Amino acid sequence: AAKQSGRQTSYVFNEALRHKAERQMQMHSAILEGIKRQQFYVLYQPIINVAEPHAGMAKVEALIRWRHPQYGDISPADFIPLAERTGAILELGEWLLQQVCHDWQQLAANGLPLTIAINRSLREFNDPDKGKHWLTELSKVGMPAQSLVVEITESLLMRKRQRQLKILHDLRQAGVSLAIDDFGTGYSSMNYLREYPIDCIKIDRSFLKDCPQDQRQVSLLEALIKVALSLELNIVAEGVENPEQLALLKQLGCQQAQGFYLAKPMPASELQAFFKTLG
Ligand code: C2E
Ligand code: MG
Ligand code: MG
Ligand code: MG
Repeated sequence: AAKQSGRQTSYVFNEALRHKAERQMQMHSAILEGIKRQQFYVLYQPIINVAEPHAGMAKVEALIRWRHPQYGDISPADFIPLAERTGAILELGEWLLQQVCHDWQQLAANGLPLTIAINRSLREFNDPDKGKHWLTELSKVGMPAQSLVVEITESLLMRKRQRQLKILHDLRQAGVSLAIDDFGTGYSSMNYLREYPIDCIKIDRSFLKDCPQDQRQVSLLEALIKVALSLELNIVAEGVENPEQLALLKQLGCQQAQGFYLAKPMPASELQAFFKTLG
């Protein structure tokens, strides 16, 4: 299970990227080929309520994986930036949403109607009708918009473009939740929290890393949580790796948490058993 999660770096893959310019086109076709040949799959990492783990809707984040016949397991941290540069992210994002819809439908039919968070990149916001398109895909399998969370990063919001704003409003109006991923690692101008229809922030795991030992880190985390709470934003803390961190989050009033200590990313087929043991 440990192999399936976290950051895996393929030496071969990174070597292949050395001559970026020449390889870019090759990698673009490798990704498109990979989609066709079913080399991609999705793991789901549970997001747990801190105060009452068994309460509320079951929620997960969809995390994409690539198992290449030559390069082996390639981390999304390595291939997503590449897919963004070549534009293959559009096909990948489309494929992932199809998979998520399919998995949602299966699990809902088995009595587990999940809330699923997906990651989206800047490039996927170029088409102003993208939001409407995603909503159409959900409706095809009967997945309510309220069951979808779209995670975007701060850098996406730093470019004030009408197109992005329109998509975000389309989604929000339909009932989709919008979360800022890796909060605190980007430009960290909190202005956008007023301007955009955001309802959740995910505090990057770097803030939690040295907690609770490092008192300055704890103060920083506490300040972030206070700001978010006063703006009535939902908070998810990322990267919870031990019970001390979980206890601290509870004490600071953070509502939700995600991390290896709580659950590792797992295939859709294991979610039912996981949420059953949760209570
Ligand atoms: P992210 O969205 O911030 O996802 C959380 C990452 O943290 C995941 O890495 C997850 O496995 C890892 N993680 C979870 N709990 C812990 C923990 O307790 N400790 C540590 N050290 N790590 C933890 P993963 O799956 O390798 O994904 C890396 C990044 O790749 C994601 O970061 C996201 O930015 C991107 N990504 C993944 N799937 C997609 C996708 O479908 N589309 C797009 N655009 N990006 C994706
Ligand atoms: Mg994410
Ligand atoms: Mg994140
Ligand atoms: Mg992250």
